[in-house]
Amino acid sequence: MTKGTHAKKTVFSGIQPTGVVHIGNYLGALRNWADMLDDYDCIFCVVDLHAMTTPYDPAAMPESVRETLMVNMAAGLDPERCTLFVQSHVRAHAELTWILGTCASYGELLRMTQFKDKTSRYPENVNCGLFTYPILMAADILLYKAEVVPVGEDQTQHLEFAREVCRSFNGRFGETFPEPQPKFGPVTRVMGLENKAKMSKSLGNHIPLLAEPEEIWSLLRTAATDPARVRRTDPGTPEICNIHTIHLGFSSEEDILWCEEGCRSAGIGCVDCKKRLAGNMSASLAPVRERYKQYAAEPDYVHDVMLHGAKQCEQRAERTMHEVRKKTGCTTKSNRYLSPKGIQLFRSENSKQTREN
Ligand code: SF4
Repeated sequence: MTKGTHAKKTVFSGIQPTGVVHIGNYLGALRNWADMLDDYDCIFCVVDLHAMTTPYDPAAMPESVRETLMVNMAAGLDPERCTLFVQSHVRAHAELTWILGTCASYGELLRMTQFKDKTSRYPENVNCGLFTYPILMAADILLYKAEVVPVGEDQTQHLEFAREVCRSFNGRFGETFPEPQPKFGPVTRVMGLENKAKMSKSLGNHIPLLAEPEEIWSLLRTAATDPARVRRTDPGTPEICNIHTIHLGFSSEEDILWCEEGCRSAGIGCVDCKKRLAGNMSASLAPVRERYKQYAAEPDYVHDVMLHGAKQCEQRAERTMHEVRKKTGCTTKSNRYLSPKGIQLFRSENSKQTREN
């Protein structure tokens, strides 16, 4: 619900409506976004159209969207200091996707590693939306003329694609969109509890952001550590241990040093290290859990945030689309057209179409 922020650079980022936000999302993205709220004109979008490209339950989608919005607000995306909305509430995302598709390279799309990854995970659902997903992402960004996009390392290829689409459109139709720049946060990759793949809800290797202290400890207790530390007396290498990575996100400098020195010298055991981390995480996330409970108790407020965000974004998107339609030669209802015989096909805006016969 930001006001008077247009002198600031615009930031755009999308949030998958998974319903469950985990500490990987928090450290890799959310916390960095929250730090940007005062310095940028921030727009954050729950990307339900993107979520349709992989198997999902339509009946559960509205609740997932709402839940995701609330957790993100609780994690620091204060709706009074940024714009939050739901992608499908602003129809122009789909329209711009089509137009940008005419400027996008098929060969580049074929090279997208996320497409290859998702088609191998869902071989029975290789749909065109999955293939053109990066074009929708480019449309999300360019629709608001965003100059800055906070990205994790797995999104750099999609952002580079969006930058190419931007250059291609500007080259063909005239300077329209600023080329979005990536912004990397301090922690970019948190591994799952088994330390084999990136933390993700779908792999079930995550710690939910809203987990209570007991759940945090129960998940950390069995989490993988440096495999070289078989016995308590074996020295370890904290840099290869995911527990150390999570310490970097939640612990004080003093505790990080304690973990690093204790690990290398075998002065501490992994259980000590994890217990200290569990305590730090629980304390650090307590305000997030508290804010979430407050939002959950105010469904009307959450609904208003969604409506307000959609209204603001619709207006901004419409300004961009007016320019895009004009530059690309797309017709609008206010255009007048003449048939070869000089008979007017469209009379004026809001008037009925007349048929030539
Ligand atoms: S002491 Fe800590 S950083 Fe070292 S291997 Fe064990 S859990 Fe990982």
